[in-house]
Amino acid sequence: MIQFRFFILIFGILSGTPALECRGEENLSVPDPSLLDQYLMATSGTCPDEIKPAIAFENRRLMDELEWAISERLQKGWSIYYPLISEFLGTSAKPDSLGFAEAVSRWQLYSGCRNPADGLLEGSTLLSIFLELQSRRFNKAGKIGLEKKMVVVEEKYIFDRQRAKDRRQLGQETFNAYEKMIIAARKSGIKGDYLKIISGYRSVPYQDELRARMPNLQPNQLATQSVHSTGRAIDLYVGGDPVNSNVLNRKNQTDSPAYRWLLKNARSFGFVPYYFEPWHWEYVGTD
Ligand SMILES: [Zn+2]
Repeated sequence: MIQFRFFILIFGILSGTPALECRGEENLSVPDPSLLDQYLMATSGTCPDEIKPAIAFENRRLMDELEWAISERLQKGWSIYYPLISEFLGTSAKPDSLGFAEAVSRWQLYSGCRNPADGLLEGSTLLSIFLELQSRRFNKAGKIGLEKKMVVVEEKYIFDRQRAKDRRQLGQETFNAYEKMIIAARKSGIKGDYLKIISGYRSVPYQDELRARMPNLQPNQLATQSVHSTGRAIDLYVGGDPVNSNVLNRKNQTDSPAYRWLLKNARSFGFVPYYFEPWHWEYVGTD
């Protein structure tokens, strides 16, 4: 049995984005601890074949039990994020499989986030994946500024048709990309309200007003420098309660065909995800 502790705290990764924190104690309980002992004491290298079943076994536990935190809010496991992570790693292998551990190992080798690159999806590896995803977003909304031309989105694309016209705006380029994307999604069988727009452009004063109306907001919600103020962010309907960050709600959303479709296709239309909010997508272009 090996125990090792780690504590990683990263402040202010991105403007308007919560600090990520990872805290965990791993109690490795695996089919052949002596082999794993030897391996974890090694200083470099990838996972030998004889260790892989033990790593896959441990990943199954970590998927539900790994403790980590966002702005000091305890999070448990990474099963909600499995669809996003597997897409990121370019694997369709199940989370407790050898194939998945190999994909994790490849990322660890490439990123240098864990040495040895054993394929264990523990805290530092999870963080490194989220940091990479965050780096692909528009992360300095205040500096990017508003898209040059804004448009009022047609009602047919709006989740709540009662929404006032000035609350239905998006940047022109973002809307053009969105329209292409939703046409493709409908052709692929994503129907009904899925991928309709819940919220697009939100001015800074409106964002402040929303925040004032919700005194119990968590630090990660309604960021002060939201990308929504640039006209380049869209909250899309991906199921359940549209923008509720409750764990069960997000689990339902990340299981939805609409979200899975976005993970596979949104990038080719220029959109990238925010790992914590399955509904939030940002237009960064296709170059
Ligand atoms: Zn959003």
